[in-house]
Amino acid sequence: MRAAIFKGPGAVDPGERPDPVIQQPTNAVVRVALGRVCESDLWYYRGESPHAAGSIGHEFIGVVEQLGSAVDSVRVGDLVAAPFIYSDMTCPHCRNGSTISCPVASHAATVRLMPQGGE
Ligand SMILES: [Zn+2]
Repeated sequence: MRAAIFKGPGAVDPGERPDPVIQQPTNAVVRVALGRVCESDLWYYRGESPHAAGSIGHEFIGVVEQLGSAVDSVRVGDLVAAPFIYSDMTCPHCRNGSTISCPVASHAATVRLMPQGGE
């Protein structure tokens, strides 16, 4: 698949990455329709925060193409969005619409979930 490849501060080039595959029952493969540059991507680009070489970027919208066996919140063909902050959508805060107060929500969680960017 095509991707923007981070090679180090100030160096991002178009390139190829392996097609993503379902590795865990909770995974989904999403075909990115539109991505954007997050301020945190610029931290890496500017050299303000370290990041391994590879694809970065974690804010996008796309269409679900494959689902792990444990995923029941979306279906193949659904349009989905990956926001800056991951939240579990199950805790009382999330259920009341205050996802920013989710105890598992964090940018770090997003980076942990997508260590090679939104692929
Ligand atoms: Zn929550």
